[in-house]
Amino acid sequence: ADVGIGPTTELMDRLRTRTALQGALDRREFVVHYQPIVALHDPTVDTFEALVRWDHPERGLLPPSEFLPFMVGNPAIVTLGRQVLETVCGQVADWRRTHGRPVTVAVNLAHREFWSPDLLPTVLGALERHGLPPDALVLEITESVIMTDPDAARAIMDALHRHGLRLHIDDFGTGHSSLNVLRTFPVDALKIDGSFVRELAVVEQTTALVRTIVTMSRALGLEVVAECVETPEQAEQLRTMGCTVAQGWLFARALPPEEAGALLAAGLPRADRAPETPA
Ligand code: MG
Ligand code: MG
Repeated sequence: ADVGIGPTTELMDRLRTRTALQGALDRREFVVHYQPIVALHDPTVDTFEALVRWDHPERGLLPPSEFLPFMVGNPAIVTLGRQVLETVCGQVADWRRTHGRPVTVAVNLAHREFWSPDLLPTVLGALERHGLPPDALVLEITESVIMTDPDAARAIMDALHRHGLRLHIDDFGTGHSSLNVLRTFPVDALKIDGSFVRELAVVEQTTALVRTIVTMSRALGLEVVAECVETPEQAEQLRTMGCTVAQGWLFARALPPEEAGALLAAGLPRADRAPETPA
């Protein structure tokens, strides 16, 4: 009597979703969009974060929330990661040829990808196939992935760093590590999680926390990137704290490759830039 239709339906749904996602991987339906990462007050664009979308044949462009949760628990996420890496390297090589500038793209590594023994050869192989130097890529690794086993993570990151790859800690502030621990990692920048940026000037403690993160990062020689910057006020506040690099809707959304490429040539439109002085 306890066996209802619920669990069975749920299982069927899960299997159907898994099959659909495997089909999407086989048919190469995942596409990469590129969100500019910019220096505040500088309209030049030469760095992006790669963000994956599912170009669904019936439902159109779907955000990661529609598919990533169903992939993180299984090897599909590693396959997706490889497709993204290959696409990104091809795109960066194309942009570097076309624009003659050292374009860089940041790629997010999922938990399973980071801990896969193939990570280093996969990344180096993709760079080599497209004739790219290692500094064409930034690998974004979340604080929580690192904190599952900090010593093992440090060894993996040391190897990546020795090969010239740049490493950024993503979603910083959410993973319960301390800057003091991260000091011992071969990291070039911290990305302050968007949840903190959204609370700037709204929650007093958050403002103080972000200021502390920026000050301490700079003391440790780390660059700080703020995510999800949506208003000129947030940009200005970050600037006065000493955070000079940001991404978010204030500057640009994640764009399809053609539109992102146009920004490499033209820079950001003036209206989308933060004001030079506080309003
Ligand atoms: Mg990221
Ligand atoms: Mg992030």
